[in-house]
Amino acid sequence: MELDESTKLKKVREELISHAKEHELYKNVLDTKGNIVFGRGSDSARVLFIGEAPGFTENKDGKPFVGRSGRLLEEWVKELDLKNEDYAIMNVVPIIPLSKDGKIRPPTPQEIEYFLPYTKKMIEAVAPEVIVPLGRSAGSIFNKSLKLGEIKSYPKYKLFFIYHPAYYLRNGRKGFEDLKNLKKILKEGDKKSQSSLSNFE
Ligand code: URA
Repeated sequence: MELDESTKLKKVREELISHAKEHELYKNVLDTKGNIVFGRGSDSARVLFIGEAPGFTENKDGKPFVGRSGRLLEEWVKELDLKNEDYAIMNVVPIIPLSKDGKIRPPTPQEIEYFLPYTKKMIEAVAPEVIVPLGRSAGSIFNKSLKLGEIKSYPKYKLFFIYHPAYYLRNGRKGFEDLKNLKKILKEGDKKSQSSLSNFE
């Protein structure tokens, strides 16, 4: 089920939206006739990608990662052999952050902190096998020192850190080589679920 339509996420979606309307960033949505950007993808995703904040395209469309960075992220999804039901995408801040002169800027630590309770609730509701923070803003919510391409394992999920797609676009790279370890643990997970199926049969 799509995150937007999921009954499992209905409560957190409504809470996030009403909370977002109380933040001063919401003025950006009103001024640009844009949107509060919730997540997209499957509510029972194996992999949850977490980005920074919506850009201009996302603000207009109301969906995360639908601009240039999103196109590269979709190439990563293909490279990882993920199907639509296998992944979801969200941001640590659901509103476009703009500077006084109307330019996009990274969200501040305070803005990320403000939305953190809802980010956590979304993670809990989706309960992914692997969380992939895209870049330092998303990585900051885990209070861990995260290294490129490294996997950390916790009882409830694995954490895989990679730079933001925008970083790769700036450097003219696809970043596929940095996805290697993620690809590996997803394949291992595939094998596990197949063997539990054969145990069942
Ligand atoms: N960059 C992000 O971090 N998130 C988006 O949704 C789009 C671009």
